[in-house]
Amino acid sequence: MKSRTDDKIIVREYFNSTGFERWQRIYGEGQVNKVQLDIRKGHQQTVDNVLSWLQEDGNLSGLSICDAGCGVGSLSIPLAKAGAVIYGSDISEKMIAEAYQRAKSSLISMGNVNFVAQDLETLSGKYHTVICLDVLIHYPQEKVADMINHLISLAESRLIISFAPKTLALSLLKKVGELFPGPSKTTRAYQHREADIIKIIESNGFSIQRQAMNSTSFYYSRLLEATR
Ligand code: SAM
Repeated sequence: MKSRTDDKIIVREYFNSTGFERWQRIYGEGQVNKVQLDIRKGHQQTVDNVLSWLQEDGNLSGLSICDAGCGVGSLSIPLAKAGAVIYGSDISEKMIAEAYQRAKSSLISMGNVNFVAQDLETLSGKYHTVICLDVLIHYPQEKVADMINHLISLAESRLIISFAPKTLALSLLKKVGELFPGPSKTTRAYQHREADIIKIIESNGFSIQRQAMNSTSFYYSRLLEATR
């Protein structure tokens, strides 16, 4: 049986090679195919959703935020622009290098943003808010509790996390997709039951404050905010 370490090596290698090429385009502004454009729009909804929650609170300036699995910085960069102090990390060196370049070309100062290539499970320190968007899709169910428990141990006040919800309709859609063989476009994708995620969060003394569902035809992401 494959161990978690193998899983992580696969994810890291994917996001340092074909996955990097694919996702930096999806998370960009250049031309992409229809499916990728749909995913880009869905993902942007998630990013905008988080930004609007945090802006609503009115205390972004100086707020310390850990963006775990930050990808190319789609959320980290606008948060840094709004004055938050950002610690962005990702297991892929290529994604982090891209995040750094994008930040450098769009931020006036890099003084409040730090990008590091690191497995989120080895992160340490304390942050007011820990955010982890669309990373759980790389985590099998049996590894989710450890991962969320670790993220919560870094959070002084709040965790914001998104995941592909496991619903009957989506499971069927995934099954249908698997019936059509073709070149694998991604690593294995794991969906998660919302009730399971909430149970893990609540077992850490956090409670759900705001929630949202962001979706397009090919993108589904449940977003939860939990506070201590
Ligand atoms: N959170 C970003 C966003 O929403 O724009 C990126 C989402 S992308 C689908 C998933 C990212 O998670 C990839 O950049 C991947 O390298 C990263 N990732 C996967 N497993 C990770 C881990 N154990 N530690 C840190 N990053 C990880």
